[in-house]
Amino acid sequence: MTARFGGMSFSDGLITGPADTTSSDDLITAPGFVDIQINGGWGHDFTADPSSIWDVGRRLPATGVTTFLPTIVTAPYSVADAAIQVLIDGPPAGYFGADPIGLHIEGPWISSEWKGAHNPQHLQEPDPAVAARWAESGVVRMVTIAPELPGADTVAGILFNAGVVVSAGHSGADFETCVAALRGAWTSVTHLFNQMTALRHREPGLVGAALLSGRPCGVIADGMHSHPGALELAWSLLGPQRLILITDAMAATGLDDGSFVLGDLEVTVDHDGPRNAAGDLAGSTLTMDRAVANLVSWTSATVEQAIISASSSPATLIGSDDRGRLSTGLRADVVVLDRELRVVETVVGGEVVYRSERP
Ligand code: ZN
Repeated sequence: MTARFGGMSFSDGLITGPADTTSSDDLITAPGFVDIQINGGWGHDFTADPSSIWDVGRRLPATGVTTFLPTIVTAPYSVADAAIQVLIDGPPAGYFGADPIGLHIEGPWISSEWKGAHNPQHLQEPDPAVAARWAESGVVRMVTIAPELPGADTVAGILFNAGVVVSAGHSGADFETCVAALRGAWTSVTHLFNQMTALRHREPGLVGAALLSGRPCGVIADGMHSHPGALELAWSLLGPQRLILITDAMAATGLDDGSFVLGDLEVTVDHDGPRNAAGDLAGSTLTMDRAVANLVSWTSATVEQAIISASSSPATLIGSDDRGRLSTGLRADVVVLDRELRVVETVVGGEVVYRSERP
């Protein structure tokens, strides 16, 4: 089936006609957003209920997201296994939404000191047999691992050799350990600045190693997880190819404030963001369209550059070269934004899956 959209033509879910990020006076046509770290939304938490991946996937096109990595936080291994099975089983009949192309497993191989809102009862030392199982599943795309843990190098090597992105995060590792990791199997950094050794002049930490590494870094651009000044610093050093916008969104995203869960811990959401009983930030309520707008507002990024940080750069990091750009032969995943960077229309695989009801 051939269809036309904006200046482009689509056939069988792919872009077949001329394409590029384009701007008219009032609309911007851009590649659909790729969120590589999202815990849930609209009342659903992927760790509490992996089958909710499809419910959230149906809602995400309203935020411009066309591809996502459902993220499983620290939990018993059976939870990641269940989430793997959900993706292997595939979408329910008639599914119409964003593409959950693989999982991001964040924990249990993280530091107990830098766990943030993860449940310490479920933290584990890295296990090569589990890493091999995840690698063989074919649906685990990304695993966050603290490089200082005993056995971290072994599991990182197993995953890296299978093409899984190993990302450094929730880590108390010193600068030297982090530099070595980021020259090796760790090819990414998970939510730069949050839950990691900070940049200090005599101890530059994971933040310093990350900024110097040449590796892409996920950033939660909600103004709460890091100061807009820290975001500008990261932007000026990383640029659109290395600064990857992520939401780290949790169940409250898309809903009013209240009580929710992240994994098996309770989280309360108010004006001060989602926080657990200890007061730690527990994910965000950010959406990708707002992340793009915030990056433009708070840094020197142009709209076109911020869109790269939300689409082609994350797609490239996870090896999904069939999407993330508007080019002939790639998937017809498109978002149309207005001048306030609000989503007007979203196309997944050549089908319009969201249209704004705003006048
Ligand atoms: Zn985290």
